[in-house]
Amino acid sequence: MNDSELQRFAKHVFQDPVTGCWEYDGYHDKKGYAQGRYTDPKTGRVGTQLMHRVSYAHFNGEIIGDNQVDHTCQNEGCCNPFHLEQVTMLENLLRKYAVANMPKLFTIYWVKSPVKVMSDAPGKLAS
Ligand SMILES: [Zn+2]
Repeated sequence: MNDSELQRFAKHVFQDPVTGCWEYDGYHDKKGYAQGRYTDPKTGRVGTQLMHRVSYAHFNGEIIGDNQVDHTCQNEGCCNPFHLEQVTMLENLLRKYAVANMPKLFTIYWVKSPVKVMSDAPGKLAS
């Protein structure tokens, strides 16, 4: 981002006091990613950019090769560079899979196990 783009970015971003996410008040695509007309950090050409990538490249540094920028806060609209991490496409896919299956894993390992322990305890669940 050049100076005028940075000023425009600052006017459009608001920090959520609870999550710390930087919410962009401009356009968001169908997946929830914020978009704006900024300079492409790779090519230097002005056009529609994903704002989390613009923010990452400006505050954290260059995005290497085909790497993707993952939202560690799981909020696709967030542009907070502290909530963004550069990862390979494979790592990003694995993370998405893990997050999508978290409720299932939670049920198996954290809900079912205590129930089993309780049912093993004499008299606890006997009716
Ligand atoms: Zn965030």
